[in-house]
Amino acid sequence: MTLLVQKFGGTSVGSIERIQAVASRVAESRRAGNQVVVVVSAMSGVTNKLVEMANAIQARPDNREMDVLLSTGEQTTIALLSMALLALGCPARSYTGSQVRILTDDAHSNARILDIDQDKVRQDLDSGKVVVIAGFQGVTADGDISTLGRGGSDTTAVAMAAALHADECQIFTDVDGVYTTDPRVVENARRLDSVTFEEMLEMSSLGAKVLQIRSVEFASKYNVPLRVLSSFEDGPGTFIGSEDETMMEMPLISGIAFTRDEAKLSILGVPDIPGMAHRVFGPISEAGIEVDVILQNIGNDQTNDITFTVQRKDTAKASEILEVLAKEIKAEAVQVDDKVAKVSLVGVGMRSHAGIASRMFEALAKESINIQLITTSEIKISIVIEEKYLELAVRALHDAFELGNADANAKQ
Ligand code: ASP
Ligand code: MG
Repeated sequence: MTLLVQKFGGTSVGSIERIQAVASRVAESRRAGNQVVVVVSAMSGVTNKLVEMANAIQARPDNREMDVLLSTGEQTTIALLSMALLALGCPARSYTGSQVRILTDDAHSNARILDIDQDKVRQDLDSGKVVVIAGFQGVTADGDISTLGRGGSDTTAVAMAAALHADECQIFTDVDGVYTTDPRVVENARRLDSVTFEEMLEMSSLGAKVLQIRSVEFASKYNVPLRVLSSFEDGPGTFIGSEDETMMEMPLISGIAFTRDEAKLSILGVPDIPGMAHRVFGPISEAGIEVDVILQNIGNDQTNDITFTVQRKDTAKASEILEVLAKEIKAEAVQVDDKVAKVSLVGVGMRSHAGIASRMFEALAKESINIQLITTSEIKISIVIEEKYLELAVRALHDAFELGNADANAKQ
């Protein structure tokens, strides 16, 4: 018998009608002969409302109480969905995270799953029931309610699938899969049939947000076959798996990810002696600023130029730190540009093919787009450019690597 874990996000359970539609879909999967575990999020908007209410009392509400509060969103959905299943004549039973016993550490609001007790779930599945589990929550060793961080229901679903050795973890959402790039930027962006965990990690961390990154890391670690599907229409969605499983397709480039809100900072004329990079990035990291691309170049006479990018919201903080440091170490200058964007070409096929970078740079040159920074990894080439050329660059690259949907072109 096939065991499926099906996860439905906030918009998919955003109203009673939608919960009923989810119930029909789940009941159908069960009728087709599958064992089904369902993981749900809170109805859309609910978690935000709960956060707002808490913040109206205190700017930093107590962590433990916050988790007690936030977990109620999902608790509502599991009960309603189970009722909707029962109303359809489909045997079902709901469980909160603590009832299953999804054991987590005690890092409230960002807890990690340590262990999952499968007994109750197995028993219910074996007696023909659909098991409906609240996403995003667990219980600490002390019996306190914990939550896994925003978007954490994806992680609950993947963790349940890993624990139960499910045949597939299906994430139902409001898009019908993972696309070659954002369809709002490139009209003929194509839904990918399959993508590897590694590629998905590069794409989601770079802005193609479909799944919580942590859930993909988890799936990759435990090799849980994932599928992203639309909860509103039928279709095959996008399969996310290990390289062996997704090998069939194996295109050169899978997609183009991008982030808009970047800023680039440089400190010029840094003395070329040991310890300088640490003096730059020590205080940056202490200030809680996430650094992305880092480049160091040999500058003039015995000095280096260090350039890096941060999220745009951190520009002021980062530049202040550099200004102070520049005086201390007698660096030449600090330069800040907060109108840059990053575009990344992602594909495991890059490993075995030469010439990708030159094809990428040729496409950008044709559009007269100036490249400011370049970095590469095994399966990714990223460039930093002036923000106003972002869309143009993404379109040019999408065309140059022929990622578009041929059918969509033909129809136009
Ligand atoms: N309800 C939680 C949130 O809004 C968890 C989730 O939806 O995955 O972040
Ligand atoms: Mg979500």
